Amino acid sequence: MKIAVFAGDGIGPEVTAQAVRVLDKLAIAGLEMVEGDVGGAAYYKHGHPLPEATKEIARGVDGILFGAVGDFSCDHLERALRPEQAILGLRKELSLFANLRPATLFPGLEGFSALRPEVASQIDLLIVRELNGDVYFGEKGMRTLEDGRRQGWDMMSYAEDEVRRIAHAGFKAAQGRKGKLCSVDKANVLETSQLWRDVVIEVSAEYPDVELSHMYVDNAAMQLVKSPGQFDVIVTGNLFGDILSDQASMCVGSIGLLASASLGTRQTEYGTVGLYEPIHGSAPDIAGQNKANPMATILSAAMLLRHSLGLEAQAARIEAAVAKTLADGIRGGDLGGDASTSAIGDAVLERL
Ligand code: ATP
Ligand code: MG
Repeated sequence: MKIAVFAGDGIGPEVTAQAVRVLDKLAIAGLEMVEGDVGGAAYYKHGHPLPEATKEIARGVDGILFGAVGDFSCDHLERALRPEQAILGLRKELSLFANLRPATLFPGLEGFSALRPEVASQIDLLIVRELNGDVYFGEKGMRTLEDGRRQGWDMMSYAEDEVRRIAHAGFKAAQGRKGKLCSVDKANVLETSQLWRDVVIEVSAEYPDVELSHMYVDNAAMQLVKSPGQFDVIVTGNLFGDILSDQASMCVGSIGLLASASLGTRQTEYGTVGLYEPIHGSAPDIAGQNKANPMATILSAAMLLRHSLGLEAQAARIEAAVAKTLADGIRGGDLGGDASTSAIGDAVLERL
């Protein structure tokens, strides 16, 4: 078993360091960790945000723990050399097509949700968003009509195989949770959604243990804030997933707690190759001050164990330790507390 740690820029190195301490503490037999440079840090060292050596590492590991990239001092560079290209390049390199974002309200944090506390406390869901298709990647254009009005268009499309693989990712995720999958589309008006629904139903035959439901995206947006407790796993396309996952994030509180996984097409003997990162960025305003909350990155490491290494019990142990830390009132600045990055790391280690 081999994983890579790409710490990146800003608070990236600080938060990944705490996640690595947590992994070390678990003393997982046979687990090897290698480091690689990405982002602005890599640009200043090697002249490129995603150097060949880093890609080489990425191709040879079972999973990647990624910190954050982004550095204002690179703003003047041409687009291809900017830090953000590291994540886009890795997405391509590993064919990462499924983005998983859990939204769970940790006990005691009801007050940080955008929802009423009694509604917020119900949330424990996972959004599985398709990443490679949909309206973002279809043919697009802009033209001026004869009467002088401008017209823009973006083509939304999905091929069957693209829907099939994300559907499998959704069903598998549901099997590892409460066994409920809600497929979100707009099949009453969109052809892409009709195909989506047909394929999801076809794939469901392989997962008789998962209870499948369908919901239109407008209703899903409403239900997410009205009664989020009804959802376990939501599987949806790129555009709807983009919007719903941000909406779900704000239902559970701080940016310093939100983890994510991006799964690729490659399977190993342990699980699915993927990249795991906090949803926050490099936070240059607090970088180097031992102030950032490392929990989102620690929780991302837990997802790595679960999805790429097949170590569910260890993943759950990490999540329980983070929950206990929060319940004990140890909180970072993002949650109105004063615990430092390393103090939060210490507290999670103690509770493991
Ligand atoms: P990017 O473009 O890379 O997403 P951004 O500028 O949109 O970056 P972040 O870097 O995520 O956003 O920072 C947004 C705000 O949240 C900043 O004020 C930052 O300090 C704060 N923040 C981000 N991550 C954390 C964290 N782990 N702990 C505490 N505060 C954080
Ligand atoms: Mg951002």
